[in-house]
Amino acid sequence: MGTLLAWRRSHAQATFATDHVIRMPHLLDGSAFLEHCSRCAECLKSCETGVITLGSGGFPQLDFERAECTFCSACADACPEDLFLAPSLAPWPYLLSVADTCLASLAVECRSCADACEQRAIQFQPGQIAPP
Ligand code: SF4
Ligand code: SF4
Ligand code: SF4
Repeated sequence: MGTLLAWRRSHAQATFATDHVIRMPHLLDGSAFLEHCSRCAECLKSCETGVITLGSGGFPQLDFERAECTFCSACADACPEDLFLAPSLAPWPYLLSVADTCLASLAVECRSCADACEQRAIQFQPGQIAPP
């Protein structure tokens, strides 16, 4: 079981980067998802926020222009297939990085990203020009 979970997790990590669509948290992604998702839309019906939509081919995906994901796991609970990883794992294999072209890295005062973030998730060192 542990070996299967490890394979599924590594497979998801390896294939996620080739798929630019963001799907539900903890979902096995890539070809395995496309092969085994029945497009039943039970996940969409269960979502409390309405962030799940049906995208290309009728497969579910997230649209953060519509709503947010609360990580409630209702989509995983509703899915009749074995497509979701354990909720204790990272929801998505994404890591945020700030590129060298960030204006603050070039000593130009800029905090536009922090100003635009309603959740106040982006922070800067106070009192100095520094990248987020
Ligand atoms: S975890 Fe909850 S809020 Fe997020 S997509 Fe699934 S059902 Fe919707
Ligand atoms: S509930 Fe599962 S099988 Fe049905 S559309 Fe959603 S991810 Fe696919
Ligand atoms: S401070 Fe934020 S908004 Fe300004 S250039 Fe850097 S990343 Fe972009």
